[in-house]
Amino acid sequence: MQKIPFDNSYARDLEGLYLPWQGAKAPDPAMVWLNEPLAAELGLSAEDLRSPEGLAMLSGGEMPEGAVPLAMAYAGHQFGGFSPQLGDGRALLVGEVIDVHGQRQDIHLKGSGKTPFSRGGDGKAGLGPVLREVLIGEAMQALGIPTTRALSAVTTGERVWRETPLTGAVLARVASSHLRVGTFQFFYARQEVERLRRLADYAIARHYPELTGKDDRYLGFFHAVIARQMSLVAKWMSVGFIHGVMNTDNCTISGETIDYGPCAFMDRYHPDTVFSSIDTQGRYAYGNQPLLARWNLARLGECLLPLIAPENPDAAMPEVQSALESAESRYEALRRKKFGAKLGVSAADDALIDGFLDMLTAQNADFTQAFRHLMQAAAGDEAPLVAHLNSDPALVDWLAAWRAQLDAPEKMALVNPVYIPRNHKVEEALEAAQAGDLAPFGRLMAVLADPYTERAGLEDFAAPAPEGETQYVTYCGT
Ligand code: AMP
Ligand code: MG
Ligand code: MG
Repeated sequence: MQKIPFDNSYARDLEGLYLPWQGAKAPDPAMVWLNEPLAAELGLSAEDLRSPEGLAMLSGGEMPEGAVPLAMAYAGHQFGGFSPQLGDGRALLVGEVIDVHGQRQDIHLKGSGKTPFSRGGDGKAGLGPVLREVLIGEAMQALGIPTTRALSAVTTGERVWRETPLTGAVLARVASSHLRVGTFQFFYARQEVERLRRLADYAIARHYPELTGKDDRYLGFFHAVIARQMSLVAKWMSVGFIHGVMNTDNCTISGETIDYGPCAFMDRYHPDTVFSSIDTQGRYAYGNQPLLARWNLARLGECLLPLIAPENPDAAMPEVQSALESAESRYEALRRKKFGAKLGVSAADDALIDGFLDMLTAQNADFTQAFRHLMQAAAGDEAPLVAHLNSDPALVDWLAAWRAQLDAPEKMALVNPVYIPRNHKVEEALEAAQAGDLAPFGRLMAVLADPYTERAGLEDFAAPAPEGETQYVTYCGT
């Protein structure tokens, strides 16, 4: 295997935020899926990654020269309750590389064994959940939504014990960093202000270098993270993505989607939609996501107070508060733009957007298909939309208002996907994979790689789950 030019800035600069650690040795690592285009972007040889040394690295048991494997520490609010210490409980940062675009990327494993942060967990992951993260992450990428990427899925040759025995697997994922709101909370909770400042300067250098050295850089940083997170959530909302576990430790500083656990795409539109088995209060329901992102950002704002105003942190409150208020209006503007584009209207107002969504709610209509039918209406054929919305009494007036404003129909195809990872299709692919048949997973990956182009013969992938399907439920940490 060729030497990988790791450049481990996190290990070098962020003392106190990690513990050097080794993964568990996998008895019989085997490649299930390798993202060859991504490997190439990282400057890594696919052949090397498939070699015994490559598999040892991607399963965590043995690291090549130059890697400084470590478990990252972070804190976080989980469902509103604060834990001062979470951290990589079943994950390892292998190291950082500079990709072919000059961008620094983390190579990170999930399922690589216990760490000092495992808190009673076994440190392992099952093949189904690993491939779920591959599928949804790659679908997000193809949809144009910022996300961590899956590099590989390797089975370990072990069984992982959950309710049923699962095939053990390790995911390797790539992220522009693993800095989270919870990373800041780790030092803030300990009142380690100097380390907090180091972390903030590190995050600025890595993600917002234009702010480096500026006097007001911490407030500028806060505004910049707000902008990225609001843009991210607007994109989630526009495709019906429900993250499911928007805890502060799953809220990135880079604005990438991270941690595909209990996430799912909404089929029938309803703002209260929740899939996660543990989200019994509906905290992270579809319609709450913009608010909860701001809640997470408010936690970041708290951490930045002592940096913005070192003499008297409280004095920074009004500025932080006003940044958070701007987050709300920023989101609303992004939503109008995104959903306007979905309607083919360049200056859509809330009444037009909400009028359409209200009909979807009333008719229990499939979110993704409704917008595709609207595209057909824009092209002159209203019948499929009328049928999809059961001739909703509000439709005639809504269509008249929409027609009067429709000015960008050609844009609709760019923002209204045909293919999303439909829950029943994802489950079908994962069940087959767990039973040793990877063909349905491969087919679904190929469909989701090009979500905006309708292709003949793939009707089954565009259609909602058959009627009478039981309510879909997702789980964390399997
Ligand atoms: P999550 O809800 O996926 O963000 O995970 C929350 C925390 O639980 C993180 O610190 C994870 O590393 C940890 N965790 C999840 N599953 C396991 C596991 N099987 N073993 C050890 N730690 C885990
Ligand atoms: Mg997490
Ligand atoms: Mg998780």
